[in-house]
Amino acid sequence: AAAAEEPIAPPVQVNYTKLLINGNFVDSASGKTFPTRDPRTGEVIAHVAEGDAEDINRAVAAARKAFDEGPWPRMTAYVNTQLDILVSVVSWPSTMLTDGRNLPLQERSRILLRFADLIEKHNDELAALETWDNGKPYEQAAHIEVPMMARLMRYYAGWTDKIHGLVVPADGPHHVQILHEPIGVAGQIIPWNFPLLMFAWKVGPALACGNTIVLKTAEQTPLSALYTAKLLHEAGLPEGVVNVVSGFGPTAGAALASHMDVDKLAFTGSTDTGKIVLELSARSNLKPVTLELGGKSPFIIMDDADVDHAVELAHFALFFNQGQCCCAGSRTFVHERVYDEFVEKAKARALKRVVGDPFRKGVEQGPQIDDEQFNKILRYIRSGVDSGAILVTGGDRLGDKGFYVQPTIFSDVQDGMKIAKEEIFGPVQSILKFKDLNEVIKRANASQYGLAAGVFTNNLDTANTLTRALKVGTVWVNCFDIFDAAIPFGGYKMSGIGREKGIDSLKNYLQVKAVVTPLKNP
Ligand code: ADP
Repeated sequence: AAAAEEPIAPPVQVNYTKLLINGNFVDSASGKTFPTRDPRTGEVIAHVAEGDAEDINRAVAAARKAFDEGPWPRMTAYVNTQLDILVSVVSWPSTMLTDGRNLPLQERSRILLRFADLIEKHNDELAALETWDNGKPYEQAAHIEVPMMARLMRYYAGWTDKIHGLVVPADGPHHVQILHEPIGVAGQIIPWNFPLLMFAWKVGPALACGNTIVLKTAEQTPLSALYTAKLLHEAGLPEGVVNVVSGFGPTAGAALASHMDVDKLAFTGSTDTGKIVLELSARSNLKPVTLELGGKSPFIIMDDADVDHAVELAHFALFFNQGQCCCAGSRTFVHERVYDEFVEKAKARALKRVVGDPFRKGVEQGPQIDDEQFNKILRYIRSGVDSGAILVTGGDRLGDKGFYVQPTIFSDVQDGMKIAKEEIFGPVQSILKFKDLNEVIKRANASQYGLAAGVFTNNLDTANTLTRALKVGTVWVNCFDIFDAAIPFGGYKMSGIGREKGIDSLKNYLQVKAVVTPLKNP
């Protein structure tokens, strides 16, 4: 379907294109830049400083200094200004006072809360920049993603003074403390599909735990993170705590993953690249690595389903964000009793999908991110046709400019086909037929991936059986893509290691220290 209407976003400028190191925007050491493009046209938006190993070295040195000498990791939980006065009156050691090194812990929380306020204040500019660089619908960026980012920051602001160790009873007369300390300098590598949210998922927990950061953005979408990092500093973040380097994977990304002075690595991207960065860690200093990788998530529709509702949800599960979601419901399993009706209605829904300029009102789908992804998707579509799946609708590019792809559906997809096994990362829905519960459990689990699953049924027993049997990190029952800050996200199998968001994300950024002291008089 076509979009009309006027553009709905405010005009936006690109103000930040340099690397952010130690609180300052600087050129890359080489002086090189690279273009970032508008997916609607392929035209250059801006030239951005291109970071490489030397810039990663500079950024890691700044993060190291901020960790070893700056206030961020050593903010301690003592109370407020009134107590400061009391403290000075009773002349407690001066290190207990706010002297620039020892800030009160609540200052960490305050900075994250101010950051959340600034995100809200600049909601529309952030969303417009995100749409320009990424191609996602402006309404999605403005009404879902930027607000989610503010929510995430408030969630992590709330954790800052609730991260603590334990005292445990142990055999023998010993006093056993388990201390939780920040790990140190965290290296973070993010992808292009949700540039702002991936930034937030990464820096939120790392900052809450008191770490310092070097973050490398994806080469396709460097702009919104630079703007956001500027807001973080406006909120009062000390210099060197968050450093942002734009650049390419094999150069800047690999330098970060193999750096000897980076204490932890968090990566989101493809499974192939995840394997590379894990190996780079192993070959360098064995920094612990968390990975959020690819998926081929099943969306299972049982025979008791309200078909209209199931069609809508399965459509959203796959087509959201141009199909560029690691957890996209990309294997739509439909019970044979509702299969024909489902395929018919899924086709009608795809034909109704509004594809067009993402800056226009009501647009559901913008262009794919770049020509590489665009061509890869078209190759997968050809492979689907060649392998004998039925092309129900779509199957080609849309228009002759930019990277738009028609909403595409295949039915009669078989498990062994490439389109049923590999991640397409585009608006291509594969519908598979099944007969019974045990069969669909086996087939859904027969994947190298295990990121997420959708289950659609009104039968409580069926839902319980499926949620327990599926080998995936998230099961959405009668819903999909629910991503609150408190809900952990991550994968089984080759979909990743570790969890982001929620309480589990804190573990990624804490070192555990056991302190054992003999007890004289237990
Ligand atoms: P995609 O196929 O979605 O672009 P990638 O895994 O290639 O996924 O990219 C995700 C992130 O990983 C990007 O920031 C990219 O620059 C980075 N990256 C790509 N290759 C490497 C590498 N060899 N080492 C470190 N990072 C890399």
